[in-house]
Amino acid sequence: MKTLGHWIGGKAVDGTSGDFGPVHDPATGEQTTRVALASAEEVDQAVAAAKEAYQVWGTVSLARRSTILFAYRQLLDAHREEIAALITAEHGKVHTDALGEVARGMEIVELACGISEKLKGELSTEVSTRVDVASVRQPLGVVAGITPFNFPAMVPMWMFPLALACGNTFVLKPSEKDPSAAFRLAELAAEAGVPDGVLNVVNGAKPAVDRILEHPDVKAVSFVGSTPVARYIQEQAVRHGKRVQALGGAKNHMLVLPDADLDHAADSAVSAAYGSAGERCMAVSVVVALDSVADDLVARIAERAAALRIGPGSDPASEMGPLITGEHREKVASYVRGAAAQGAEVVVDGTGYTVPGHEGGFFLGVSLLDKVPAHSDAYRDEIFGPVLCVMRAGTYEEALALINSSPWGNGSAVFTRDGGAARRFQLEVETGMVGVNVPIPVPVGHHSFGGWKDSLFGDLHIYGNDGIAFYTRGKVITTRWPDPADTGGVNLGFPHH
Ligand code: NAD
Repeated sequence: MKTLGHWIGGKAVDGTSGDFGPVHDPATGEQTTRVALASAEEVDQAVAAAKEAYQVWGTVSLARRSTILFAYRQLLDAHREEIAALITAEHGKVHTDALGEVARGMEIVELACGISEKLKGELSTEVSTRVDVASVRQPLGVVAGITPFNFPAMVPMWMFPLALACGNTFVLKPSEKDPSAAFRLAELAAEAGVPDGVLNVVNGAKPAVDRILEHPDVKAVSFVGSTPVARYIQEQAVRHGKRVQALGGAKNHMLVLPDADLDHAADSAVSAAYGSAGERCMAVSVVVALDSVADDLVARIAERAAALRIGPGSDPASEMGPLITGEHREKVASYVRGAAAQGAEVVVDGTGYTVPGHEGGFFLGVSLLDKVPAHSDAYRDEIFGPVLCVMRAGTYEEALALINSSPWGNGSAVFTRDGGAARRFQLEVETGMVGVNVPIPVPVGHHSFGGWKDSLFGDLHIYGNDGIAFYTRGKVITTRWPDPADTGGVNLGFPHH
């Protein structure tokens, strides 16, 4: 069995806390790795390494930072297969999906390569006689990221490439369930020329997170994970005077209007609900269909769901892999088992599913629940598994009211051929990201990602321009070079025109 420690000061170091967590291959159920769980002292070592490195990195030229990031991008490109294989081995998602995750993470590295353009600042000349004003953005210092299990490479890459490009140094605390991909990202960064201490990885659980949140030298915290923890992260970070962006969970609705192309809508719903076994914060977990097309749509979704090939992520024939742990599989299955008693119709029941030869794996079949009541657990909770709920509405207004009554506001989608209806939806829906005939509208790297309501605690979204704003602070410099013959003399008044 492999033992994974931490990456501090540019090298791998063993864990010293004596605590370890198990990492499984979800396709077999076997433990493959024990990951060190950092103590507060180990977090302090990582922060100290980052603080020391910041003394130099914060002053390294933009040209040099870009050069290193370009080299990093090239290394990631050369190692995409390997990183994807690490993701599949610990998360379970199928290899092509893992490759997509790496590609989407690399988009942020590509954005970071062009940081010089983004940090140009603003200059106004002659705002008053011989007075110029410049706005610049400077790094914060040591910043930290805490990431979830479901995108073990992409979500860390939403954070540290931009943070580093802006001149900060970084401490990453990846999910303890699948930590190897993030560790490899740090090794490759060092190979690309990121100096020692600029990017550190501490593995761990709540005690490590709590130390990050209270450490006086950590200036900002980016978090992605579930809503209860996101709320806690924001509260604790604010209590300790830190800047924070904490992205939480979701329940994403896909509205299907009667004029939609139903085959396209059914393909999209199935892909977006069951891809990555539903363990995506932007997964479509609820389809809201207008009554006139609901029966037809449910039949088309059920037909496609039944044909999905479920198996190990490393098997090219598999379209969907296992869930992350045995406990999580049981929790997801319990929503399907309890759905009928709470008034839903179970159209497809995936709870008894096994993959021959992989009986120990954390596999679950896909489930489709129709006519799901709004008060039922299957609708009210984020299930985070391959369970798609269908709800019906008589009118557009009824559907919109349902979607907007959700406490979450991450993503939503509308499927229609009517541009006017789509336009209305995109303005009226209360989510941070909206797709029009796009089921999972994850913004590309140069736009920013973030939800509303209980899907994001903080002000700035992640990556894109918001990411750059998050990892820098503004400074405005007012300069006057007076004419030596006319310094103006004493004037106690506030200057005016
Ligand atoms: P999680 O909240 O359990 O864990 C996320 C991180 O927080 C991990 O690093 C974990 O070690 C740490 N953590 C867990 N419990 C903690 C506690 N009590 N105190 C301090 N730290 C704690 O989330 P997860 O199960 O790893 O990931 C799935 C969740 O993440 C889902 O809810 C999903 O919607 C959400 N998610 C959201 C986004 C988004 O962009 N909004 C993206 C991906 C995942």
